[in-house]
Amino acid sequence: MSENNRRDFLKKATLATAAVAAVGTVGAPAVHAAEKKYRWKMVTTWPKNFPGLGTGANNLAKYITEMSGGRLTVKVYGAGELVPAFECFDAVSRGTAQMGHGAAYYWKGKSAATQFFAAVPFGLNAQEMGGWIYHGGGQELWDELYAEFGLKAFAAGNTGVQMGGWFNKEINSISDYKGLKMRMPGLGGEVLKRAGATPVSLPGGEIFTSLQSGAIDATEWVGPYNDLAFGFYKAAKYYYWPGWHEPGTVLECFVNKKAYEGLPTDLRMIVDHAMKAAYQDMLAEFTAKNNSALVQLVDKHGVKLKRFSDDVLAKMGKFSQEVIEEVAAKDKMSGKVYKSFNAFRKQSLNWNQIGEAGYSLARSLTFK
Ligand code: CA
Repeated sequence: MSENNRRDFLKKATLATAAVAAVGTVGAPAVHAAEKKYRWKMVTTWPKNFPGLGTGANNLAKYITEMSGGRLTVKVYGAGELVPAFECFDAVSRGTAQMGHGAAYYWKGKSAATQFFAAVPFGLNAQEMGGWIYHGGGQELWDELYAEFGLKAFAAGNTGVQMGGWFNKEINSISDYKGLKMRMPGLGGEVLKRAGATPVSLPGGEIFTSLQSGAIDATEWVGPYNDLAFGFYKAAKYYYWPGWHEPGTVLECFVNKKAYEGLPTDLRMIVDHAMKAAYQDMLAEFTAKNNSALVQLVDKHGVKLKRFSDDVLAKMGKFSQEVIEEVAAKDKMSGKVYKSFNAFRKQSLNWNQIGEAGYSLARSLTFK
């Protein structure tokens, strides 16, 4: 049925139902609910159609629009189209748009606690972030935090574990970080500072030229799938693993709280479950595409793949604990979120060893 026919049909159906409702036939509320249409805007911190992240936002909008049969349509705006990337949070907060897509650590200036909902160095991996948010108390805390800004928070994607970054010199000891200008946002950047480096925050679109011109010495971005697309191999020789600073970064979608609460129950459920589908789908996309990208980087582009030494990782781990404790001491809410996060990490350390890590070791005994 075309959109016009559908509208005519609904109009007639409403009149007919109103007539029969008077004699006691049920069904009127459903038809009335179907009448009301919601047109939402989603502003994003990514360039439009940006691989993995921008396309994740597009998928989410599509799920909601199609699952609702067009009763709730979501139009996606790339960074700068409606508002600049880093103004998305305020724009949704004041209702200029109803939804915003980004990563919670971009809003650390609003509250330090936001960073726990994106990525914590040596924190939770992707599976554990899902566990904490959906079943470990994380969602309730995130909602409490965002309610102060008139927002409702959702996890809407996960990159999985990232890579340690691109360098033009080897990192053999922690002292090799001294004086290094490296692009790394969030808590990871604070950890780098303690290792003697200068962390730089740059939006995705500016990283490549900064690396090529020597304005920065090193950078991290996401992982092989995204990094190959950016062409970082043309400007740096060494590709280090693992991404200790972003073990399972959550992408978020925040929704204007009033707009969300103004939806009928079924549309709210569609929004809730579209978010979960988008979360899972993004993680699956990265999981499926990282390895072939990595093989291309090494075999075709001659990238030198290197692992950070245990000593470097252990020192970064120690710095990271100091940084996180300082964040926790910043305000009451940050302390509260840290307490919950830390307890979840503790239980994850235990189960991961027996569960996922235990299995990975077992598999590698036979399958090399
Ligand atoms: Ca990153």
